[in-house]
Formats: sequence, structure tokens, C-alpha cells
Amino acid sequence: MPFQKGHKIRLGIKHTEETKRKISEARIGMPSPRKGVKLSEEQRIKCGKAFLGRKHTNESKEKISKATKGSNNPRWKGGIHIDKDGYIYRKCREHPLANHLGYVMEHRLIMERHLGRYLKQEELVHHINENKSDNNIENLRVVTRGEHNTIHAKKNKRTSFNR
Ligand SMILES: [Zn+2]
Repeated sequence: MPFQKGHKIRLGIKHTEETKRKISEARIGMPSPRKGVKLSEEQRIKCGKAFLGRKHTNESKEKISKATKGSNNPRWKGGIHIDKDGYIYRKCREHPLANHLGYVMEHRLIMERHLGRYLKQEELVHHINENKSDNNIENLRVVTRGEHNTIHAKKNKRTSFNR
């Protein structure tokens, strides 16, 4: 039986005039980034929010911390950097303490999101279990430079005893 050519089956859905109009309206409504506009605190801290999203319940927090563990997570591609000391950096150009490449230490962003404000330059975030890539909020603690020195000095003393 010969194959019938020229009998096209139309796949895909053609947009009606109405849907076309809806799409263009939606595009018009898209916010465009404006320069020089003074941002509210809520908007300014969005780097932390972009990472963990809006307010989360404890359950969803747990899911997120599992999902974001490990660098295989596709969300981490681009905008993420791990330095030679094992600290995780995230791209956040808008952040007041971003480095010259626009990166901020991720554990600081997480703590800022947790606190709902920016950390001061003199406020350090210590990794309680000493694992610099473990940025779960439970592993992070805000300390002053002095407190931080004390924490690490204790550890050094321990190792020099063993010598
Ligand atoms: Zn530390």
C-alpha cells in the first residue's frame, strides 16, 4: 500500500488572536531593571533571598539544604565559585560587600537572609563544624573578630599540645 504523501497532520497549537494579545500584554508588564533607583531594604537583600527563596517552613528549609548540597545541583552552575580554602562564593553584584568580581561569601548571604539584614564588615560568620562548605544555617554563627580569634586559638592550642 503506497504511503500517502502530502497529508500533513498539524501538530502544535496555533495561537489565537486572543492568546497573542495576552502574551504581548504580559511582556509589557514585565519589570525592567532601572538604574539609579533607590532600592528598599527588602529589594536590596534579594541576593540572600534569591538563593533560598522566600520565607520557608522548617520542612522546606530541610529540603532546600539537601537540594543545594553538592556542586552537581544545576542551580549552582555559573555564579558560583569555590576558593582554594573551600569557601563558597556566590555572584551577587548588588551586594554592598561584593568583591571586585561581584562575588560574596555564600555563608554570609545565608546568615544575612536568616537575620533579614546585611552583616556589618566587622561581623564574621564562623562555621561551627569547621567545614567551610557546610553552609547550613545550623552550622553558622555570627561572631566578632575577637570571638573568632578566640575560637580558632583554642583549636590551635589543642594541636600544639599534641606536638
Ligand atoms: Zn571560623
